[in-house]
Amino acid sequence: MSSSEINRALFDEVMVPNYSPQQMVPVRGEGCRLWDQDDNEYIDLTGGIAVTALGHRHPALVKALKEQADRVWHLSNVFTNEPALRLAKKLTEATFAERVFFCNSGAEANEAAFKLARKYAHDHFDEEKSEIVSFVQSFHGRTLFTVTVGGQPKYCQGFEPVPGGVKHAPFNDLAAVEALVSERTCAIVVEPVQGEGGVIPADPDFLRGLRELCDRHNALLIFDEVQTGVGRTGSLYAYMDTDVTPDILTSAKGLGGGFPIGAMLTTDAIARSFSVGTHGTTYGGNPLGCAVAEAVLDEVSRPELLVGVADKHDRFVAALEAINQRHGLFADIRGKGLLIGAELVHAWKGQAGRFLAAAREQGVLILMAGPDVLRFAPPLIIEDADIDAAMASLERAIEQLIQEGPES
Ligand SMILES: *Cc1c(COP(=O)(O)O)cnc(C)c1O
Repeated sequence: MSSSEINRALFDEVMVPNYSPQQMVPVRGEGCRLWDQDDNEYIDLTGGIAVTALGHRHPALVKALKEQADRVWHLSNVFTNEPALRLAKKLTEATFAERVFFCNSGAEANEAAFKLARKYAHDHFDEEKSEIVSFVQSFHGRTLFTVTVGGQPKYCQGFEPVPGGVKHAPFNDLAAVEALVSERTCAIVVEPVQGEGGVIPADPDFLRGLRELCDRHNALLIFDEVQTGVGRTGSLYAYMDTDVTPDILTSAKGLGGGFPIGAMLTTDAIARSFSVGTHGTTYGGNPLGCAVAEAVLDEVSRPELLVGVADKHDRFVAALEAINQRHGLFADIRGKGLLIGAELVHAWKGQAGRFLAAAREQGVLILMAGPDVLRFAPPLIIEDADIDAAMASLERAIEQLIQEGPES
């Protein structure tokens, strides 16, 4: 097979059609830039969907990966390993958590969290205490349990029957949650900023209210920080910027900086319910993944980096607001740190995908969060000049689309 046959068209022949990737194939990355097969250059504001927190090919991550590659790649859970122990130690020192479970993705971290919440409730209360309360529009992954807990029915449709014992309340509506929570509730799970659901931050009072409800009903509070974690919102984990501490926290995406890894963090008392044999995964705590994640954590924990995230947020939002003054395209610009959403005005609802393609043609890669919201999740190390250049390219894409007009 010659390399000219390896192209975007091949995707439609050999891949299961569950994705619809952009019409080019990136082959190389460096910092905030990507190059495709024809050597076209792009500024990458997708960050691999909030994953490549330190950009592409960060020297510290490449070094960690190469060094570990020369030692040992894989051992399984029959053994522990040094990178996993070092990473767990650092995560417990940096957060509320005392115990860590490693896995390979966000969905797996949440699956572990939901199973642990049920197990803990069954161990300490009774079988009836099994309900999980979650939120409309929330996203927790694509396994059958996590799509069921997620608040987007389209991800469950066609996959029924789904697991039971899950209830959904409107996000940021404490009274609605209160009406659903009872002694049967084992956990409430919330994203501090709903990511896939449209980049919607939780109100601080709402999070405080959830903590109180959990305490009152002996339920566990789970923060899904798969998207918000590892510096994305300007603190190491988003909970640190609230006065609420969860009982379980899930992390993935940015944690590996591009190497697949997930983690579930919790307290010693809760962790005990996952006694020997109760849960597991072959690759979880893989030495390669943990070595890279340790390097990510070291870099992201640097105070300058986290302060920079807040500054860059302001620069992004100012640029988007200026674009909006000229073009009146956004009904709302919101988010935290470098997780930013721009909701399209009514006339452009449902057409976020057109902006992704138009922006790509102008050399800037962006995301959507549902059909109505443009989403930006660039590397946390993006430089001001790249933000400015990307926003100028985005504006050219917007001008072009406005000329074409909204589809009716
Ligand atoms: C992406 C995401 C997940 C799922 O992570 P995967 O690694 O794709 O399984 C879960 N929760 C949130 C909040 C996410 O953004």
